[in-house]
Amino acid sequence: MEIKKINEQENTLEIKNLVIHYISDEEVVKAVNGVNIIIKAGKTLGLVGETGAGKTTTALSILNLVPEPQGKILSGEVLLEGRSVLSMSEHELEVMRGDKVAMIFQDPMTSLNPVHTVGHQIAESIEIHRKVSKHQALKQAKEMLELVGIPSERSNEYPYQFSGGMKQRVDIAIALACSPDLLIADEPTTALDVTIQAQVLKLINELRQTYHMSMLMITHDLGIVAEVCDEVSIAYAGRIIEHGTLEDIFDHMRHPYTKGLFGALPDIGVRRSELMPIKGLMPDPTNLPSGCPFHPRCDYVMEVCPQSLPENKWLSETHCVECHLYKDTNESML
Ligand code: SF4
Repeated sequence: MEIKKINEQENTLEIKNLVIHYISDEEVVKAVNGVNIIIKAGKTLGLVGETGAGKTTTALSILNLVPEPQGKILSGEVLLEGRSVLSMSEHELEVMRGDKVAMIFQDPMTSLNPVHTVGHQIAESIEIHRKVSKHQALKQAKEMLELVGIPSERSNEYPYQFSGGMKQRVDIAIALACSPDLLIADEPTTALDVTIQAQVLKLINELRQTYHMSMLMITHDLGIVAEVCDEVSIAYAGRIIEHGTLEDIFDHMRHPYTKGLFGALPDIGVRRSELMPIKGLMPDPTNLPSGCPFHPRCDYVMEVCPQSLPENKWLSETHCVECHLYKDTNESML
């Protein structure tokens, strides 16, 4: 695997005002409703939120893989190293997927092909993107297996011969085989046992740092964010409602929803008789609340909240929030 030179001033990924709905005869699922995301070269952004916040649909848009015909990108831009992904030709997309951007999926049991050996599956990606001979690709596949901690002799084995954690390591080897610039990890440890989760997470993080990749870490686990991310975007009802550095979000969180997420975390340093979950449920994406989508669950709701969608307010150079409680200057009405 090659080690890249990166310019930290450049953005690997920029998503601007992205709107994606799933439209059928029966309903319109408003999955993504104006998402803005920036990932700087070599950095990791954590995209955090509950199920139904639009995280995975946003990730699929980066690969231009939003499922058609229902999935419709209604507006916005996805720029990968300055190039528009949404206007790439099929050929350009094929080159981009795997070569520039690779994805590690939640469940390695379903993402690996059961009828091919793991060596074959890693080599296939190398052969397509690196235009090398089958023999050369298989040799590199074995090196990739060693890199993720699996003895190369196991390259002739099939996915069913591996444990869940080992399968996820194979998935990582496939994703990294062509040294992508951006790695998307969609809840990569959710399907694994707790002890294996920590090992897999450590492996992803070490490889990302060694090979200078940017990463989008999609998770609902704030512990994972604290361990691997530089910046954090909090997603709610298809919008980014708060964004900042790890310090901004963990030490100076502002949005009532973000505060709720942290309030719902078990804290071994604080003795509480019970967890404090956020009241209510994530809104139905076919019937989103008016104004601020969090207003039916918010303890600070004001008259203006159901009437108008709050604008994005910058509280500092790195920290922004979408909430009527704040003005651009970090002045709070709380
Ligand atoms: Fe709560 Fe209003 Fe802020 Fe929404 S805009 S989070 S309802 S205070």
